[in-house]
Amino acid sequence: MSDKKSKPNIINRRRVITGLGTLAATSLLPQRLAAQASNEADILIIGGGMAGASTAFHLAEQGRDVVLLERGEIASEASGQNMGGLGGSGWGNNPNLLSYLTAGSVEIFKRMQIDMGYDMEFRLSGTLTAIHTEEQYEYYQDDVAAQKAGGYEIDLLSSREARAIEPELNGELPGFMYRPQRGQADPVKTTRAFAHAAGVAGATITTGQNVVSITPLSAGGYSVRTESTEYRCQTLVLATGAWCGPVGEMLGLKIPIIPIRGQMWATASLPTRVLHTIGSTVSSFAWSRDNGADAVTPPNLTHKNGRRTVRHLYGRQRKNGEIIFGGDRESLGYITTPDPAGIEVNRSHAAEVIPLLASLPIARTWAGLMPFSVDGSPIIGKIPLRDNLFIVSGLASSGFGRGPMAGKLAADYIHTGNMNPVMAESDPARCVTEA
Ligand SMILES: Cc1cc2nc3c(=O)[nH]c(=O)nc-3n(C[C@H](O)[C@H](O)[C@H](O)COP(=O)(O)OP(=O)(O)OC[C@H]3O[C@@H](n4cnc5c(N)ncnc54)[C@H](O)[C@@H]3O)c2cc1C
Repeated sequence: MSDKKSKPNIINRRRVITGLGTLAATSLLPQRLAAQASNEADILIIGGGMAGASTAFHLAEQGRDVVLLERGEIASEASGQNMGGLGGSGWGNNPNLLSYLTAGSVEIFKRMQIDMGYDMEFRLSGTLTAIHTEEQYEYYQDDVAAQKAGGYEIDLLSSREARAIEPELNGELPGFMYRPQRGQADPVKTTRAFAHAAGVAGATITTGQNVVSITPLSAGGYSVRTESTEYRCQTLVLATGAWCGPVGEMLGLKIPIIPIRGQMWATASLPTRVLHTIGSTVSSFAWSRDNGADAVTPPNLTHKNGRRTVRHLYGRQRKNGEIIFGGDRESLGYITTPDPAGIEVNRSHAAEVIPLLASLPIARTWAGLMPFSVDGSPIIGKIPLRDNLFIVSGLASSGFGRGPMAGKLAADYIHTGNMNPVMAESDPARCVTEA
């Protein structure tokens, strides 16, 4: 995505934002953003997380008539509960879907905060990923070299080099991977910024609307019923995250998305000690040998059949001073109660990388549900089994950072009728079936 392409829109948004004064830059979101309520829309999006909010924003920007329905508040599920990590290793020499979703989203984050004036606590901090053993170090030496040859921005640092830019790291570890094109932002502020921008561009964002049934109309389009209201639309977009399964059933479809519990913990606020987002290669190294997937289990989970198979780690220090970490990914249905034993494993893993964490008490914990597809790839595009039906989901453990571009790719497809060829990998036709 070039800066040139986005400039006319930036100018338009600036005009609108100037007219709104400080409202556009706040994270406060009114229950209804658009002036006029409407139960009829050309395009109706279900789900007010990052996937739905970005799709709504990019469609409304194209002048399309959009209604978004969210049963809770904007960002009340995974999009507001995540760690806030984003980005990847740049576009590479031959951009694929992953490059679009990571590097493309970084461009959208920059546009929203720097050009449009939303305070999302976004910064391209870079990520440092700890290497724990000599065996891992050798593996990642080759991996980093291969990625660099492909045009990706990634480096292998000695502990000494890494501690020069992140002083609290454990100097006893063999080394760190450094990805400068990764960063962080506040999940709630960011997702609400996208919904707000969608409203400013003309979309109707309606919260407190739990969709309970969907009926295709004989004349074309859909009737979408919530507990209180009937809506009608020509085109329907499912952006219901971990709830794509049950929402798909309303249409007689089987959408293979499984809710995976992710859980996190936070210290109390303290002065700045951690500058980058932080990870560990323990999990990616293990998954490179066996990703644990089978016909009903998505790849790259930390638990299988109730037992831990690997430790996973990601974290950062928030602008408010809390140091937050998480990592577990477990299939437990719709349970969102954190598991203290898993939190303790994660905390000791984090302390191996940043020793000061060993002495800091846990101030709070929380959990949310990530939308994992069974085959591990995103599900973004047209569902050919029904007319004018689209989905933006399956963003798994990375949908906060990748959701902005996922929404733009979906919006461009809906608006132009043409699928960007990079979306072949996310084509819903590969896995969405009749129930
Ligand atoms: C603990 C944790 C840490 C994470 N860390 C990161 C990270 O650092 N970086 C990253 O990129 N990603 C991270 N993720 C993953 C990321 O949060 C998700 O991939 C992403 O938020 C998914 O966005 P979404 O819009 O698809 O789903 P959601 O945010 O879940 O939004 C779906 C929305 O649909 C609504 N909905 C569902 N059913 C209905 C209905 N019937 N009617 C109306 N509305 C409905 C829900 O209320 C919800 O608001 C993490 C997730 C968790 C849980």
